[in-house]
Amino acid sequence: MAWRAEMNRLPTKVKLVKRGVYIPNTLCVWCGYHDETSMHVLADCIIAINVWERIGKWCGLELIYAFEIKDLLQVYKKVLGGKMKRKIVHGVMIVTMWSLWKARND
Ligand SMILES: [Zn+2]
Repeated sequence: MAWRAEMNRLPTKVKLVKRGVYIPNTLCVWCGYHDETSMHVLADCIIAINVWERIGKWCGLELIYAFEIKDLLQVYKKVLGGKMKRKIVHGVMIVTMWSLWKARND
């Protein structure tokens, strides 16, 4: 899922409409203000921002923000505290991305 997100290949509403699938509106199910794109669901939506803020605090990181999906997947590279901590943070980031994507589908 993270790889597909990075490649902008998640089946978001915007992507499905581009493929000819009929969807009444392409707005985000959470905020209802912006089109549902991978970037919006995983990083830009107020729900995602809130989740990343809490994940950042939980992991003892600085503010997590992303200009593109790749930024979320590279947060671990800036983590101080050794290889094991970086691996754990990388795992937390991927699981959180998956959880956001899954929650948006529920
Ligand atoms: Zn939204």
